[in-house]
Amino acid sequence: MINSLETVALLSDPDLLAGTHELVDNSLCTEADLLVHLSEIDERKLYADRAFPSMFAFCVGELRFSEDAAYSRIMVARAARRVPAMIEATRSGQVHLTGLRLLAPHLTAENHSEVLAEATGKTKREIEELVARLAPQPAVAPTIRRLPERPAPARAEPLTLALEPAPARPPPREDHRRAIAPLAEKKYRVEFTADQELHDKLREAQDLLRHRIPDGDLACIVERALDLLIDHVKKERFGVGRKPRQPSAVAVQEEASSRHIPDAIKRKVYQRDGGRCTLVDERGRRCPATGNLEFEHVDGFALTHLHDEDRIRLLCRSHNQHAAEKTYGRAFMERARSLRVSTCSGPGRGALRAVTRQLDLLGQPTGAEGAGSKSVMCVAERSTQASHAVPVW
Ligand SMILES: [Zn+2]
Repeated sequence: MINSLETVALLSDPDLLAGTHELVDNSLCTEADLLVHLSEIDERKLYADRAFPSMFAFCVGELRFSEDAAYSRIMVARAARRVPAMIEATRSGQVHLTGLRLLAPHLTAENHSEVLAEATGKTKREIEELVARLAPQPAVAPTIRRLPERPAPARAEPLTLALEPAPARPPPREDHRRAIAPLAEKKYRVEFTADQELHDKLREAQDLLRHRIPDGDLACIVERALDLLIDHVKKERFGVGRKPRQPSAVAVQEEASSRHIPDAIKRKVYQRDGGRCTLVDERGRRCPATGNLEFEHVDGFALTHLHDEDRIRLLCRSHNQHAAEKTYGRAFMERARSLRVSTCSGPGRGALRAVTRQLDLLGQPTGAEGAGSKSVMCVAERSTQASHAVPVW
């Protein structure tokens, strides 16, 4: 009964983490053993005796794997006959199953030690980059084309996939190409759907820059636009690149009593912390987050009303809120957040200021520091409602 929710809820934090690690270790051993068994079943073609036309159909129909899990396990199990080290890489947790599936076609008796070592501990995205380096694909030409007005009906999935001699790619997820995918070393394909407005802006930018980018290369134009956007947002949120000004005595007094952190301090903190969350856990591992960053007054602004650069640090939103929950309690912070959300969506700036004051008492960020990220979100939301498309770059 150790795994019942009620029992687990009674565990201490260290016991919960230790128990989870033990479960992961056990599941990796089971996964490795499972791959060995699947490989042997495949080799003996036992699926045919059981009225399944392929190993894939057997895995989905009899073993109840999802299509993705079946595909990954069969790919790895087959490749492991050539490169048995893949089984041990699974058992030790060196490389996860998805990573091994991506690497499988590119592993050889000669390169597997080096490649598996390089893939150790890497994310799926990082392994995709490794694969792109091992097997570079040609660059794609920039294109803009119109999508059908109505979405095409979903393609029927084949009932079975013939996995011999080479396994077919599974129909689900793999049909949806990643928005940003590595093609070769330091080369990526970027793909997204644009609405009419964004499409028109791209065309306008091409025309305006024709004297500098005669072929209207979209990658060049987007890079220039992003340079400007990044500079703008860094300036707005973190004061980076903003010219220092000599504030008046009144302004200095107002700033000291205001929650608004002076630009000079924002800039120094941002640069000192390297634009990254500064939370370091007890093992010395630092949070990798570089998005959703907020300034945290270590001593609580409500208590000190001071903006001291040595007592302000960058935290990602998640760690900032986690820290606040530890200080003030989860229930209290949830009440404060719901108050903020309901006010932000309703009564307007006066009420927002009132909530801002209340949240100041909690030493919490008010959202005023996050104005830049909102505009970026808007672009993302518009692009999801699109009828005009830019499918391939
Ligand atoms: Zn963090």
